[in-house]
Amino acid sequence: MKIGIIGGGIIGLGIGWQLLRRGAEVTLFEKGTIGQESSYAAAGMLAPYAEVGFEEIELMKLGQESLRLYPKFINELAEDTENVPEIDRCGTMLVGVDRDDTEHLRRLYDFREKLSLTVEMITGTEAREREPLLSPKVVSAVWLPDDAQIDNRALVQCLKEAFTSCGGLLLEQNKVTQIHRSGGAVKGVSTPSSNFQFDKVVLAAGCWSRQVSGIPDKLKPPIRPVKGQIITMQKTPDCELKGIVRSPRFYLVPKEDGTIRLGATSEEKGFDKMPTAGGQKELLEEAWEAVPSIYDLPLIETIAGLRPASRDHAPIIGQTRMKGLYYATGHYRHGILLTPVTVYSIVEEILNDSIAEAVKSFRPGRFSKTGQEA
Ligand SMILES: Cc1cc2nc3c(=O)[nH]c(=O)nc-3n(C[C@H](O)[C@H](O)[C@H](O)COP(=O)(O)OP(=O)(O)OC[C@H]3O[C@@H](n4cnc5c(N)ncnc54)[C@H](O)[C@@H]3O)c2cc1C
Repeated sequence: MKIGIIGGGIIGLGIGWQLLRRGAEVTLFEKGTIGQESSYAAAGMLAPYAEVGFEEIELMKLGQESLRLYPKFINELAEDTENVPEIDRCGTMLVGVDRDDTEHLRRLYDFREKLSLTVEMITGTEAREREPLLSPKVVSAVWLPDDAQIDNRALVQCLKEAFTSCGGLLLEQNKVTQIHRSGGAVKGVSTPSSNFQFDKVVLAAGCWSRQVSGIPDKLKPPIRPVKGQIITMQKTPDCELKGIVRSPRFYLVPKEDGTIRLGATSEEKGFDKMPTAGGQKELLEEAWEAVPSIYDLPLIETIAGLRPASRDHAPIIGQTRMKGLYYATGHYRHGILLTPVTVYSIVEEILNDSIAEAVKSFRPGRFSKTGQEA
């Protein structure tokens, strides 16, 4: 079976690699360089328990399933390439610095306890015993030991190597401009210089997923970019964070490579990726209030990435009403976490026509009642 994949972020690469392992012939198109968009900007948190919002129980279950699949995903990757990053089961500390924050944390705690998650509400003093760098201003915290993180940048590079070592054809600097169809079924794609024929095509183009021509308007995925600014700092011996520290306004994620990532803003600015003084100031101030020792850390990178957000902020996974065209997009704030569950379920659907239970609530067709069918 010949399959074309549009987009070389973590999602497209992961799907391509697993299809190759199962005997398909795969060509992957990337308009720029592999893994330099949202999958690079991400902080790499695998944090379904910190992230779950009051209306997002199905999404949390999807994240939980994906976290369960992560070790299998990583072990298989280690069969095909070297230097695969480890899953760091560091947990998340949600911190509060005043009474408003404590009230908010109490609601988050109650909600998680009702869901029978492993969670503790602790005092500022107890929080400092576990994370000594926290400021004396921290008065309360919620501890979520089951959250984890991974070096997403290293993971994407490993996926690229595994994709090519398994025989995939990688076409960087090759933008897909058109999807071709005939009689309601997909037939192939074109780039500005060539045409390609495929049995099936996967659209994994992140926040650009609406922009490829050849999909009827009512089938286009309802995706928009949401800008996130993120700062990378160099760790020093005075600032050895143990795990993820976050509040509703920032997060700090210590990475295996000796850096700390501080993120992230959430801005509706279209495709603008320029970091701004205001965005950086807010992140630095908020994080400094909770962890004062970041003050002296060298800043080594300030960037912004574009999260691919669907209309309901949940991913879109599965075959569309155009036979042979599959969507794997809209992963918004959770694409690193949701990679294994997306990859295994869509590969199963492409090769065996079977739809995994875990993704049934995230099918393309769910937008049909509001006029934008997929
Ligand atoms: C600041 C920030 C922090 C984040 N933190 C986390 C986190 O801690 N944990 C987590 O789980 N998630 C996080 N995310 C979200 C996560 O990064 C995304 O959900 C995920 O990377 C999406 O992967 P993707 O492959 O769909 O998109 P992308 O990585 O954006 O890849 C899409 C690719 O498609 C290519 N492309 C687009 N159009 C075409 C075309 N026509 N032809 C060929 N190629 C095309 C693009 O060039 C791009 O390389 C964060 C995001 C941001 C911005």
